[in-house]
Amino acid sequence: MIQLENVSKIYHTKYGNIKALDKVNLYVNKGEFVVIRGPSGCGKTTLLLSIGGMLKPTEGKIFISGKNIYDVNSRERARFRAENIGFVFQLFHLVPYLNVVENVLLPAGSVKKKYGRTEAERLLKNFELSDRMLHKTTELSTGEKQRTAIARALFNHPSIILADEPTGNLDPENADKIVKYLEEFHKDGGTVVVVTHGKKVDQYADRVIYMRKGKFEKLQ
Ligand code: ADP
Ligand code: MG
Repeated sequence: MIQLENVSKIYHTKYGNIKALDKVNLYVNKGEFVVIRGPSGCGKTTLLLSIGGMLKPTEGKIFISGKNIYDVNSRERARFRAENIGFVFQLFHLVPYLNVVENVLLPAGSVKKKYGRTEAERLLKNFELSDRMLHKTTELSTGEKQRTAIARALFNHPSIILADEPTGNLDPENADKIVKYLEEFHKDGGTVVVVTHGKKVDQYADRVIYMRKGKFEKLQ
């Protein structure tokens, strides 16, 4: 389902080059729930953005469902991403001037109109946000923002969810809710990759991979 072959990413900055990913290899099966855990700065966000088609690696290949995602133009890649991948960003990336339901509807713009407002409202109800649908996202608590972000990631019914520190900024109660939503998606056959510095999500993972300085640690 997800395959990385010798993926490296070097950021060129005016202070020098930073090797954020160093020849990473990964295979995630369809329906698998994988957690990649490592300290801040080890390359987790870089890895997830690369898998999500938003950051081209310096070297190596990334295949999603057999498709080399950086082999196609950015437009095709964006469409492929919208149809197949739900991405939960580390800092939510909600659009501040849109309300909650409009934020959830955002991915609808990039694909054939399969799902509409009714689906967005159904998701938000499921995520206990019925009474916040018309609020601007700047008016939400952190937990509500994260639930909105997950609803948006699920909107197009993707086969893959990629989540960057989905419980990072949440209190335990809200963190539990988020992890349960991810687990529900997984139980329904979805593929999940979570990158995180914490242990919260481990309990549901089929596999935990440890990452450090741009590399995966050898499994024992
Ligand atoms: P993590 O998500 O594990 O905290 P990141 O992937 O964000 O790690 O960052 C990995 C390394 O790459 C860090 O050393 C960080 O400073 C650097 N880095 C991340 N994004 C950029 C960028 N856009 N430009 C330059 N360096 C970056
Ligand atoms: Mg990060």
